[in-house]
Amino acid sequence: MLDALGIEASTCMRCALSQSRTHVVFGNGHPNADLMFVGEAPGFHEDQQGIPFVGQAGKLLDKLLAGIGLTRADVYVVNTLKCRPPGNRDPLPEEKHACEPWLFKQIELIRPKVIATLGNHATKQLTGKETGITRVHGQEQGLKVGAFDVLLYPLYHPAAALYTPAMLSVLEQDFARLPELLGRETVPLEPPPVLAPVAAEPAVQLGLF
Ligand code: URA
Repeated sequence: MLDALGIEASTCMRCALSQSRTHVVFGNGHPNADLMFVGEAPGFHEDQQGIPFVGQAGKLLDKLLAGIGLTRADVYVVNTLKCRPPGNRDPLPEEKHACEPWLFKQIELIRPKVIATLGNHATKQLTGKETGITRVHGQEQGLKVGAFDVLLYPLYHPAAALYTPAMLSVLEQDFARLPELLGRETVPLEPPPVLAPVAAEPAVQLGLF
C-alpha cells in the first residue's frame, strides 16, 4: 500500500515545485515503524537522490538514532513537502496545503505510535497551531490522525542543531526520551502543554541541507 502511494506520488503535479524538482522525495524506512519522523522539505542532496535526510542534517539524525539503539531501517522518515523548494526557501502555504494529503495518507498507512516532528514547519502543520518549536520541543501530546491516536513529539530540527551547540544538547536530551515514549503500553491522549510566554522565536536558517 505504501509502495503504491509512493508510485502515485512520484508523478505528483499538485504544486509548482513539480516543475523544478529532480525527484519526489516520498520517504523511506520501515513501512510499519513505531516511530516516524517528519522533517520540513528536501534539500539539494535529497532532491538529487530522492531520499529524505541524506545531507548533513541526515547524518546528525543517523547519529542521534544510533544513540538510542536505532537505525534508519527501524523508523520511517518523511518531510511535510515531498519536493525541494528552490534554494531551500521556506515552504509556501499553498505548497503545504497541496502536499498535506500525502503526509496524512503516509501516517494512516504506517500507523506509528510516535511521530517526532523536526522543527517548526512540521510541528505547526501537525499540531495545527502556531506555537513555535522553542516552546513545545520535548513535550509529547496526543494527536488524532483520521480515526486513530498517535503521540506527537516535537523536536528541534537537526539542521538547526548543527549550527547551535546549545540546541544540539537539548535535541540530544529530548531524543533520549524516545525509547520511553515508544515503550508506553498505550498512548494516552495528553492535553497540549501549558505554555509559558517566551521571547520571539529565533530565526533559524536551515541552509545546510
Ligand atoms: N531537512 C529536512 O527537513 N528534510 C530533509 O530531507 C533534509 C533536510
